[in-house]
Amino acid sequence: MNCDLCGGTGYIPVMVKNPYTGQKYTDSSMCLCKKSKIISDTYELLGHKGFDYLPFDKMIAPFNQIDPEKWDLSKISNYIITGDSSLFCDNLKSLIMQVKFSENPMSVFFEPAINLVQKYHVKQADGSSPNVTELVDRGLMVLVFNTSENNKALQGCVAQIIASRLWVKRPTWIYLTRALANCLEYNEELLSEHFKQFKRIGLAGVSPEQSIENKSKIQADLSEFGRS
Ligand SMILES: [Zn+2]
Repeated sequence: MNCDLCGGTGYIPVMVKNPYTGQKYTDSSMCLCKKSKIISDTYELLGHKGFDYLPFDKMIAPFNQIDPEKWDLSKISNYIITGDSSLFCDNLKSLIMQVKFSENPMSVFFEPAINLVQKYHVKQADGSSPNVTELVDRGLMVLVFNTSENNKALQGCVAQIIASRLWVKRPTWIYLTRALANCLEYNEELLSEHFKQFKRIGLAGVSPEQSIENKSKIQADLSEFGRS
């Protein structure tokens, strides 16, 4: 990797002042290129980005509205996000790069929604899913709805997580690659009450109303996420 900042070493020398003695010394700080690669390697949905990342000053709302050092989970809004998937990934990746490596790191759970069922769901006789509750406390949860998963457990898991996270004031962002009704077996009653508390954002000029209600207008690039 040829990086203009670090020359490929992954680290940049920085001057640090000892708070007690006042003495200055040289330390090394992780370069953005290295942080970028770590995030791509950590998150399944960002693996295709490799070293690439969006410069932080190019980020757009709501991604650039979280202060990497002074975030407050209870004040971060819940969003249903639609629109350009590349814009979404670039912005979210830059946000994660900022908050994960800050002095006050925030945990970000970013996975396809179907993973809730495949990794965490253990169905009980009454339909509840106790393993999903371990996700309730995660910092920022970002769920991607890719396709018609046609999985009956998915909606129940999502509803359970969202309800619990709203209760404890943990932010959840939902990215829809296409109309909600095409992303899961959508039951108005089960989810719409929770979704009233979500703000809707369309990236790159696609209005959320179009995206959610007019199925024909969504031309999502599903291959972007490496799933089919
Ligand atoms: Zn570098």
